[in-house]
Amino acid sequence: MLSDYHTHTELCRHADGWPVAYAAAAAARGLAELGCSDHNPMKDDDFDEWRMALGDLPRYVDAVEEARAAHPGLPVRLGLEVDYLDDGGAWLDALEGMARWDYLIGSVHYLPGGWDVDNPKWLALGRWEQQTVDEVWTAYFAAYERCVRSRRFDFCAHPDLVKKFGHRPGGDLRRYYDPVAQAVADTGAILELNTAGLRNSAGEQYPSQEFLAVLAQTGAPIMISSDAHRPEDVGRDFDRAVALAKEAGFRQTARFCGRERMLVPL
Ligand code: ZN
Ligand code: FE
Ligand code: FE
Ligand code: ZN
Repeated sequence: MLSDYHTHTELCRHADGWPVAYAAAAAARGLAELGCSDHNPMKDDDFDEWRMALGDLPRYVDAVEEARAAHPGLPVRLGLEVDYLDDGGAWLDALEGMARWDYLIGSVHYLPGGWDVDNPKWLALGRWEQQTVDEVWTAYFAAYERCVRSRRFDFCAHPDLVKKFGHRPGGDLRRYYDPVAQAVADTGAILELNTAGLRNSAGEQYPSQEFLAVLAQTGAPIMISSDAHRPEDVGRDFDRAVALAKEAGFRQTARFCGRERMLVPL
């Protein structure tokens, strides 16, 4: 009985549907729980154009309540996908107090210098040509390690999102994976197997099978998530994801309620 804890809503301006529709999809797929985790608001609404406005946070919380009321048999958890930023600690303190969160996801989309590596606009703007792929990967994985080591999040999302558009350096990629696995081992963090990569140009889940195997050696549990931006993607490719996670050596996943972690077998 899996849960899907990484889903979005139309409040973030690049997803479709409300939590009630995601809950209906989760119930139809036979999931044990649904978690809503839309992109966090920033203090400044014009930070970028792909997250909810701060003034919409009460609507978001109400919309999750509505999904709970419509699907009494399905636990619907209130979460948020929070952008990890090196100077984001004070804003995260504030966000933590704004609702009764069941969990917070830490995500690295922004690299130092302020560019969001998964945003297709940078392909057209030639941002990827300003640095080697190795340099971008180095910056991404260093930020990801800081995100894990911050211990601020209940789990951390899409561990190798930087490959989204197919940019992969040469050689043995464990030079990127090992420090993240060490951070997981040191902090007891939980990472995510995110099936969105199977639906986009990455062409495989996040993290890659090789990275997944390195992470499994820490003995940590793994979250399995769709990162659905429309209700029909809730729980998408989960059979395959469970097979990949087990093949890598994972045995457990987690659920969250009131920011308490509960481990369950995969
Ligand atoms: Zn999104
Ligand atoms: Fe994300
Ligand atoms: Fe997401
Ligand atoms: Zn995401």
